[in-house]
Amino acid sequence: MSVDLSVVVPVYNEQECLPELHQRLSAVMGRLGRSYELLFVDDGSCDRSLELMRALSRRDPHTRYLSLTRNFGQTAALAAGLAASRGQGVITIDADLQNPPEEIPKLLAKFDEGFEVVYGVRANRQDPWIRRFCSEVISRFLKVAMHVSIQPDVTAFYITHRRVVEELNRCPERTRVHPVLCAWLGARTAHVDVRHERRFSGKSKYGYRPLLVRAMDLITGYTNVPLRMVSWMGFLFAAVGFVLAGWAVFQKLMVGTTLLGWASIMGALGLLGGVQLLAIGT
Ligand code: UDP
Ligand code: MG
Repeated sequence: MSVDLSVVVPVYNEQECLPELHQRLSAVMGRLGRSYELLFVDDGSCDRSLELMRALSRRDPHTRYLSLTRNFGQTAALAAGLAASRGQGVITIDADLQNPPEEIPKLLAKFDEGFEVVYGVRANRQDPWIRRFCSEVISRFLKVAMHVSIQPDVTAFYITHRRVVEELNRCPERTRVHPVLCAWLGARTAHVDVRHERRFSGKSKYGYRPLLVRAMDLITGYTNVPLRMVSWMGFLFAAVGFVLAGWAVFQKLMVGTTLLGWASIMGALGLLGGVQLLAIGT
């Protein structure tokens, strides 16, 4: 059964946030006068989150939940939620109330103008400077490497049209980076400023290691920059090998002597290694 709007929430150990989130989401969605569902995705929590979702879904006919077998990470939880959602517009929102549900009408107003994806942009981002800096670097990198323009302060708070959701569901990427995939699909996109608040309770689930892994996934999974670098290295090695081999021949002819074997071996090594790297690269 299709509904007007789905709200998908990835949840990993958010027992303190869930009751407040559910209450505020229900209040906001109830006022919109459209049919809706709240879809919580438990990403292998080890606290009482799943238990709370079960209780909420029994009490509230708008609420459903999915339970993943273990912790797969936020993007995988979102992908599972998107695949199970039924709304014509699908809103995704973090469970920790950093994106206030009261900002949903702002996203929706823009969505109703005919955009296929509308991102919340945090005007007053409440994250440590290092994370803001990394977002800026990644955004510039994507611009150069993929020619896609992603705002550094987009949040995981956005609304996506069913047309785009269906296409996303067909994307096999293990790490789904929503703004990059939507840019690639050519979805009509808009941004609206939304408030960004401190976490309601608990701690961020992202240490620096998962963030680094995500950045690496983005670089290796979405761009050919690593392969290009291999090509350039191959080119460099081959050039050095070529010069060394030429030098050895020159010395032999002009000076009549050369350090026995050194330049010819280095030259052959450089050339062979370089050609192999060139063959691997792109
Ligand atoms: N989350 C998840 N799986 C994870 C880590 C996080 O589903 O492995 C959820 C988390 O419960 C929250 C959202 O993803 O709803 C964003 O996580 P968090 O607030 O910790 O990230 P931050 O705001 O620091 O980027
Ligand atoms: Mg958060």
